[in-house]
Amino acid sequence: MSKTTRIVIVGGGIAGLLLATRLGNTLGRSGRAEITLIDKSPTHIWKPMLHTIAAGTRDVQQQQVIYLAHARDHGFNYQPGEMEGLDRTARFVKLGALHSKSGEVVMGPRTVGYDVLILALGSRANDFGTPGVLDHCHFIDSQAQADAFNEALRVRIFQSVVNKSPLRVSIVGAGATGVELAAELSRLLEVASSYGDPHIRSRLNLTLYESGPRILAAFPPTVSASSQAQLQHIGFTVRTGTRVTAAEPDGLRLGDGSLQPADLMVWAAGVKAPDFLGKLEGIASNRSGQIAIKPTLQTQDDDTLFALGDCSTLTLEGNERPLAPTAQVATQQAQHLAKHLPAWLDGGALPEFAFHDFGSLVSLSDYNAFGTLGQFGFFRGGFIKGRFAQLSHAMLYRQHQQALHGFGKSMALWTAERINGLVQPKIRLI
Ligand SMILES: Cc1cc2nc3c(=O)[nH]c(=O)nc-3n(C[C@H](O)[C@H](O)[C@H](O)COP(=O)(O)OP(=O)(O)OC[C@H]3O[C@@H](n4cnc5c(N)ncnc54)[C@H](O)[C@@H]3O)c2cc1C
Repeated sequence: MSKTTRIVIVGGGIAGLLLATRLGNTLGRSGRAEITLIDKSPTHIWKPMLHTIAAGTRDVQQQQVIYLAHARDHGFNYQPGEMEGLDRTARFVKLGALHSKSGEVVMGPRTVGYDVLILALGSRANDFGTPGVLDHCHFIDSQAQADAFNEALRVRIFQSVVNKSPLRVSIVGAGATGVELAAELSRLLEVASSYGDPHIRSRLNLTLYESGPRILAAFPPTVSASSQAQLQHIGFTVRTGTRVTAAEPDGLRLGDGSLQPADLMVWAAGVKAPDFLGKLEGIASNRSGQIAIKPTLQTQDDDTLFALGDCSTLTLEGNERPLAPTAQVATQQAQHLAKHLPAWLDGGALPEFAFHDFGSLVSLSDYNAFGTLGQFGFFRGGFIKGRFAQLSHAMLYRQHQQALHGFGKSMALWTAERINGLVQPKIRLI
């Protein structure tokens, strides 16, 4: 392996940042390779907590990892920028112009050369071309979108307090994002009722729309049924088997032609990869633009190009369906590459990825959590709920923090968060 092998990772999410950290700590620090992480955002956030940022029940400042600082501490470089294309012959990534928040061009379009390229660009909800969705619905696939939703939410709450009017929220898509957001909004307004308007929670009128026959289709039926019962118990309407055909300024148009009025609409249905990925020349992808990869996590036609996490699709031998786009899959794929890439760079073989299903969990804020224990251990496949399930869900994030920062720093971050929780308001007020 040449000393200067350039490994470029695009996307510093759950998979990309974990991989950059591990490879930086090993190959980067020893000078065996130059590791560069590219992300369009300056900070990383654990995506499964975005609904709490959107609701304002968690302080984003305490949860984000600043790439530049993390890169310095872990032996890799950080390049801000949004990938827009790829030249596989000349081996460079094309980055678009970088803009400041006020729209000023900070840096023009650039290219970044690589020897090995790893794409970990994640995914976003899929509007399936439904008219009006991009114009009238919020998405919560990034920190910026979660912030934008929170801003609009606080305005609507304020109006509801002043006018004593209902606060009508519609969420389309009852996967983990939609279900967890619904519960978090209820919790937000329960806490908010202690800040001057004790009736604000009772004015929340929330409907969750799902075109499939049950909510949380990727979870076992027991988790779906328990979660739906919990949402209905806290007063929400769950409409399964209901297709949304358009979003309009004042509400959602349904398959039966009716218009369901809403003050705030969130689109949380479907999954798709960033648009340009599906158009990369010579790279096979599915209808959602996710790159088709081999069990070694390499693309079908180019062994120097890897893809991980939500932006990729992989059906393992013996399985009928591809791996689900989850934090668990993204984490395990990053761990797999971090472990085997160094030997592969030295000419060794790359073992095939094997997925270990440790179960799936959905958290309904402080109310409850439901899940299954996965296919390992004594209680394999067992159904869990309540405090144990809530703790297990919280542990997923703590494990991610520990993988990024090590035990000492992640404990310090957790302690700081607990102390802040004692002295700061529990919800975002400004
Ligand atoms: C609200 C919510 C709740 C969820 N809850 C759960 C849960 O409970 N359990 C679970 O397993 N999964 C959950 N998920 C799904 C989980 O978050 C994803 O499966 C996981 O984040 C995928 O990891 P990733 O590394 O592939 O992508 P991400 O973590 O999404 O990271 C992608 C990164 O790529 C960057 N990027 C994107 N496009 C570009 C570009 N063109 N150029 C440069 N950078 C780019 C982004 O800024 C981001 O940093 C949830 C998702 C959401 C939104």
